Amino acid sequence: MNRFNFDVITLFPKAFELINNLGVITRALEKNLIDVNLHDLREYGEGSYRQVDDKPYGGGAGMVLKPEPIYKAYESIKKAPKSKTLLMSPQGKVLKQKDLVRWSTLDQIIIICGQYEGFDERIRCLADEEISIGDYVLSGGEIPAISIINALTRLLPGTLGDPDSLMDESHNSSLLEYPHYTRPLIFKGMRVPDVLVSGNHQEIKSWRKKKSLERTLDRRADLISNENYEELLKSKIKKDSNQFMKFRIVNEYDNYPDW
Ligand code: SAH
Repeated sequence: MNRFNFDVITLFPKAFELINNLGVITRALEKNLIDVNLHDLREYGEGSYRQVDDKPYGGGAGMVLKPEPIYKAYESIKKAPKSKTLLMSPQGKVLKQKDLVRWSTLDQIIIICGQYEGFDERIRCLADEEISIGDYVLSGGEIPAISIINALTRLLPGTLGDPDSLMDESHNSSLLEYPHYTRPLIFKGMRVPDVLVSGNHQEIKSWRKKKSLERTLDRRADLISNENYEELLKSKIKKDSNQFMKFRIVNEYDNYPDW
């Protein structure tokens, strides 16, 4: 099996040490399912100071990554037959699970991480896709790059212990996943729903489907597609019928006190 190559152009290669302590991802590295090749932008910097950034033309705050070092680093990377280049940018398309699934059949992903005020506009033409990990601004592209490496690696064959755990996952079918419980049966007075200990696989399956729809409707109605909407109508889910919501995971829709 070919291993999947991640080639990352970054000014902060040390940020990627996190990958050596990330469970499933670390095991994928150890099992040679993936390779993470870090290309230190500083090495491609100009002059004795290895300069990689400069002031913006037209004035304004902050520094901008110069085009030459990034091009040099990019040209030094050996391209695999099925390769895509992603530019990390808050102005890019917001990352979705379906993008990761689409990329998982490639051999290589090259990731360019910006820093400071960003990068010279002429860097954009190196990228096949410009990707944002959400509508907020980070100080660099390293955390977005680690997120992509992490989320894509767990989709590769041989990475997860149990490939079935990918099947029902949130965002795979455009629905959020149903609630999970493990032992003990009763914890602080909260009991695991009877259906889950009934041993009736058919009932468990339909309970999970219902909870998945209910949860999506409650938290992320924007994800409900036409197809899921039909199912929703069939199962006559009422939002207020959720007996478990009193100990649900806190999310942005919860009301917080005024601290
Ligand atoms: N001034 C720029 C932001 C620069 S942030 C602008 O307004 O567009 C510095 C770098 O961090 C970016 O070049 C990008 O590589 C990375 N970055 C910041 N937020 C990001 C996000 N939400 N998704 C992906 N990359 C991001």
